[in-house]
Amino acid sequence: MLRLLTVGQLQANCYIFVCDETGMGVVIDPGDESEKIIDLIQGESFKILYIINTHVHLDHTGANREVKRSTGAKILVHQEDADMMEMGKYDLSFSKQEMFVSFKIDRRLVDNEIIKFGMQKLKVIHTPGHTPGGICLLGQDVLFTGDTLFKNSIGRYDLPGGDREALKNSLKKKLLVLDNNLTILPGHGPFSSLGEEKKNNLLLREIIEK
Ligand SMILES: [Zn+2]
Ligand SMILES: [Zn+2]
Repeated sequence: MLRLLTVGQLQANCYIFVCDETGMGVVIDPGDESEKIIDLIQGESFKILYIINTHVHLDHTGANREVKRSTGAKILVHQEDADMMEMGKYDLSFSKQEMFVSFKIDRRLVDNEIIKFGMQKLKVIHTPGHTPGGICLLGQDVLFTGDTLFKNSIGRYDLPGGDREALKNSLKKKLLVLDNNLTILPGHGPFSSLGEEKKNNLLLREIIEK
């Protein structure tokens, strides 16, 4: 079961991904509007085990604390973004407001780690470039891409911790090698498929070639 809520000023996609058999699930990127997220979880009686952040920018983490308080879920972040956050190095240059909210990280993720909930699982794919600890999450036929890959666009690499070469490698060596039929579920904007992006995403083609 997949539910999408678009939250906050930057219209981030917050996904609630739940095992059909057990009702156990995860919240991916609760960026804002905690009440909306919590209402949906309670309304459907989902049992949320984990909050997973594709990266620690505020628009993906802003409701972490409230969702954790209401569900008891553990917060999972890739170890390199956890380090950056704890050192206070993040600064969203497109926002003059507080850049990130600090929150306690319960588990630091590494590349290839499997996150299980009920009969479902997601594999962590470390995709640095937008941030050092950015991740994508691979399910059976879905790929949550955070701010690494969008429909017709790619992640920014000009923010603190961003790195064009790293993003290029992540896209080329970690994502483009995956199945074309995967549904791409990005951190902002509409869904796509990996095959479609390979064909039509000009920014993706440009960064891969240069
Ligand atoms: Zn971001
Ligand atoms: Zn974002």
